[in-house]
Amino acid sequence: MMADRVKWLDINCNVCGQRLNSWDARVSKALAYKTPVCEKCVAKEYDIEPSELRDRLEDFFGMRPCVGI
Ligand SMILES: [Zn+2]
Repeated sequence: MMADRVKWLDINCNVCGQRLNSWDARVSKALAYKTPVCEKCVAKEYDIEPSELRDRLEDFFGMRPCVGI
């Protein structure tokens, strides 16, 4: 099975305005954010590093970050 490739979406982060990719959107969805937010802002909110956020999501939701991010 091929790993998901990251896709850039036509959505911007509700906090910093950065363009979101498919991974950011998945993160927002998994954490039940009403408005999409990029993983950096999510990590900031939880006061952790984005890499730590990815690890946690992998543990909690079995989510794998997309290739290329
Ligand atoms: Zn952001």
